[in-house]
Amino acid sequence: MTQRQLPLAEAFIEGQRIPARDTFADLDPSTGRPCARVSRCGPAEIDRAVTAARTAFEKTWRRTTAATRAAACRAVAGTLRAHRRELAELECLDTGKPISQAYTDADVAARYFDFYAGSVEALHGRTLLDHPDLLAYTLQEPHGVCGHIIPWNYPMQITARTLAPALAAGNTCVLKPAEDAPLTPLRIAELATEAGLPAGVLNAVPGTGPEAGAALAAHPGLDHLAFTGSRRTGRSVMTAAARGIVPVTLELGGKSPHLVFPDHDPAATVPRIVTSVIEHAGQNCSAGTRVLVHEGVHAQVSTALAEAFTGLRIGPGAEDPDLGPLISARQRGTVLDHIDAGRKAARLVVGGGVPDVAAGGFFVEPTLFDDVPPDAAIAQEEIFGPVLCVTPFGDAAEAVALADATTYGLSAGVWTRDIGLAHAVARALRVSQVFVNTYSAAGGVELPFGGYRQSGFGREKGFAALLEYTRVKAVAIQVDPL
Ligand code: ADP
Repeated sequence: MTQRQLPLAEAFIEGQRIPARDTFADLDPSTGRPCARVSRCGPAEIDRAVTAARTAFEKTWRRTTAATRAAACRAVAGTLRAHRRELAELECLDTGKPISQAYTDADVAARYFDFYAGSVEALHGRTLLDHPDLLAYTLQEPHGVCGHIIPWNYPMQITARTLAPALAAGNTCVLKPAEDAPLTPLRIAELATEAGLPAGVLNAVPGTGPEAGAALAAHPGLDHLAFTGSRRTGRSVMTAAARGIVPVTLELGGKSPHLVFPDHDPAATVPRIVTSVIEHAGQNCSAGTRVLVHEGVHAQVSTALAEAFTGLRIGPGAEDPDLGPLISARQRGTVLDHIDAGRKAARLVVGGGVPDVAAGGFFVEPTLFDDVPPDAAIAQEEIFGPVLCVTPFGDAAEAVALADATTYGLSAGVWTRDIGLAHAVARALRVSQVFVNTYSAAGGVELPFGGYRQSGFGREKGFAALLEYTRVKAVAIQVDPL
């Protein structure tokens, strides 16, 4: 395909595509070749989008009823389902993820819009104070114009996860997709408007982080900013938002552990641990990247993990392998650097190299390290690749201490048939999601999700996200007794 024939991903503002002034290449990670040209937007387009969102908020969206917004969200869900195949193929092309995972992401994206359609109809304030001469109550009000900066790993799911509650709650939105995977977010913005969202309610502006992203984070016209991405960028986004006292939600990744106790069920544990770390080649904020295993079953679990890792199929996303490529050459370089450091600190059991699959793609072998010291960099830092670290523990208290011994706190898996132990460990862990004898739970649309400690703050998913996209107003009225 020549450069001229490549699809052009343009900004979508006030219900229209905005012709690109300049473009950059978007690469297919499975081949390393360009798959689209992307409009290189900057402060001018961001400003135009924020202005459109403000107008739509004041003139239209804030005046709608919850029932109207619920119907709009249901219509968006229906349209996403009707375009399921197109969206899944686009996501697979743009991110390199296996096509079956891309289909799941399309389904989960539609489910977010359905879930928040239902939830917003159940959102209500409270009556306060039992007082003879006062009536006091609360209102849950939208923030106004919300900015959303999202990453490249789950563009479709994260677009829906962040937009659906914001829109349902009555906000208008400006979305900045990642430069490495902007295709499905831009398409969703267009489809949502075709489904009936009024022009300007949802705007999407592609571009680089330092140009479009930084302009959105610093825009004085925002009332709320949601960011999902790296800790480094999260810090700079939060600093920019702080200047205008704009409230932020930050989702900054994790180093999520599995805690495997002696009475676990190996037939369930091992396959689910493997899936949790190889899904989208480990490029997942809540990837289960550390296995903390009781020393009594350490050898068996390590052997089973090694067998499973050895049998994994790797290849281009369209061939639906177990894992596809990483997003970019840069990301592959980062992951290989982590693996090299890991070789010096721990025992490499499987993988560690670049596999001999499709030339040009950004592939890394699924990699298993054992006897990983808890303070090794591979046990501490978010790698964002298919790298699993095994560390043994002696008792439950040590397991929890190891689980908490990073600066992150996002998700955890607990593998035991002892229900008392499972509850005690769930309570002790400093993470926002604990899965017992499972992991991830069907996309977790209904389950609140977010950071403890440096994984960020604010909650996404579930009813909690709807509250996050509102603020509470208290009204007190003097009522003179009769
Ligand atoms: P990665 O380094 O893995 O690409 P980032 O956290 O930098 O992850 O990217 C997440 C999102 O943040 C992307 O949409 C990216 O364009 C955006 N971004 C990057 N740098 C900035 C910045 N300085 N200000 C605002 N957004 C940014």
